[in-house]
Amino acid sequence: MRIVVLGGGFAGMEAVRVLERGLRTRTDVELLVVSDRNYLLFTPLLPQVASSMVEPRHIIQPLRDIRGARRFRFRRDTVESIDFAGRRVLMAEGSVRYDRLVIAMGGVTPTFNIPGVAEHALGYKWLDDAIVLRDHIIDLAEHADHEPDPDVRRRLLTVCVVGGGYTGVELIAELEDLFHAYIVPRYRGIGPGDYRLLVIEAGAEILRGVHPTLAERARRKLWHEGIEIRTGTRVTRVMQGAVEAGGEVIPVGLTVWAAGVVGHPTLAHIEAERDRLGRLLTLPTMQLKAHPDVYGAGDAVAVEGKPDASIPIIPAALAHGRLAAENILAELQGRALGTIDFAPQGMLVSLGERDAVVEVGGVRFSGYAAWLFWNALHLWKLVGFRKQLQVAVDWGLAQFFPRDTAIMRRPSRCLACAHRPEAARLPGEAA
Ligand SMILES: Cc1cc2nc3c(=O)[nH]c(=O)nc-3n(C[C@H](O)[C@H](O)[C@H](O)COP(=O)(O)OP(=O)(O)OC[C@H]3O[C@@H](n4cnc5c(N)ncnc54)[C@H](O)[C@@H]3O)c2cc1C
Repeated sequence: MRIVVLGGGFAGMEAVRVLERGLRTRTDVELLVVSDRNYLLFTPLLPQVASSMVEPRHIIQPLRDIRGARRFRFRRDTVESIDFAGRRVLMAEGSVRYDRLVIAMGGVTPTFNIPGVAEHALGYKWLDDAIVLRDHIIDLAEHADHEPDPDVRRRLLTVCVVGGGYTGVELIAELEDLFHAYIVPRYRGIGPGDYRLLVIEAGAEILRGVHPTLAERARRKLWHEGIEIRTGTRVTRVMQGAVEAGGEVIPVGLTVWAAGVVGHPTLAHIEAERDRLGRLLTLPTMQLKAHPDVYGAGDAVAVEGKPDASIPIIPAALAHGRLAAENILAELQGRALGTIDFAPQGMLVSLGERDAVVEVGGVRFSGYAAWLFWNALHLWKLVGFRKQLQVAVDWGLAQFFPRDTAIMRRPSRCLACAHRPEAARLPGEAA
């Protein structure tokens, strides 16, 4: 018998952990994980990679190293489709048969077919996104540093984050720290008034899902730092060097797209029911409707009739993965299947160094204590002692040493080109 898990994220690896434990004595059952990335990414620390606080490799754990990879086999491949009738997963480099399948391939950030998003905005979901974002921001600072025209300088240093959920808010707060604590003091051509940070949110409020008093506290803190927040404003076009929002064209140096989560596009063509966000619909047992041998978990799915259990956050993904695995084990042992019982226990939003808002088990607090709690919890949740140590050292070093802002990659396209084509061409590039 073969159990195949698609996706090496939180949901997939939690399913693997539970299956490994339950199958210790079952040598007749093969466990295979297929993922296009060979590491688990700890997304809560992505903003700190973008702001150069934490080294990129410190927030990922190679899948083969997780608990010594005792039982499962790993295949790095890209899933292209699923043949439910033939019980086969079709991948870029072949296909594999399954007896039970767990789909845990996560979601993607929707563009809502808004013109220019794919071409001119940077994504913010994967580790590579955070690295590219960091390099671009530093690249813009390098250009702005010797830009004599103050208007062009400010335009270069305008970063617009589209999406006022917790990912957008945490990112903008980290970028404020980067500009305020590192770029302004060290780039002599850049003054405190030369940069502009902006969040655009289509909904009425930022931080939807966070308790209103904490969301308001976060909003005041960002406003106090000079970060502009435009709520109830839709972005209608992204251009090189500008975004069009609420009928106004806003000059920007960089647009970052962080506008929610929808179902995985690879799964858009398979025969299965979906919710309005394109996520696969599962029963409360985590089985796909009409496919009892296939389970779904994490951001890729929504549980029918259970909105609380369908929020795209790590605790929900872990709960899905755990239950999917427990139910597969229950099937093997002829037991009754369990149903999902999950509601978020709280929310933690970092607001940069030394500030956060936290709600845990009905207790709400903010400020330095909340920031310490945020750090401690995320350090504890990081997979592996080595990674915990590396991140703790990064945080410690950041208290005494400047951030490392070396540009690691030569940008493939220079974002400053929109403003001064002749000045921003990269060395060796043709006119
Ligand atoms: C910037 C950012 C910050 C976040 N911060 C928080 C936070 O602080 N707290 C919180 O609770 N949640 C946070 N989240 C949300 C959280 O990361 C997700 O809810 C969680 O990762 C979902 O887990 P998952 O396993 O469903 O998907 P993922 O973690 O996205 O894993 C999906 C896996 O599937 C693989 N995959 C995808 N497509 C294919 C394919 N075609 N073939 C093979 N493999 C494939 C991927 O490589 C990946 O390994 C954040 C998200 C982002 C983007």
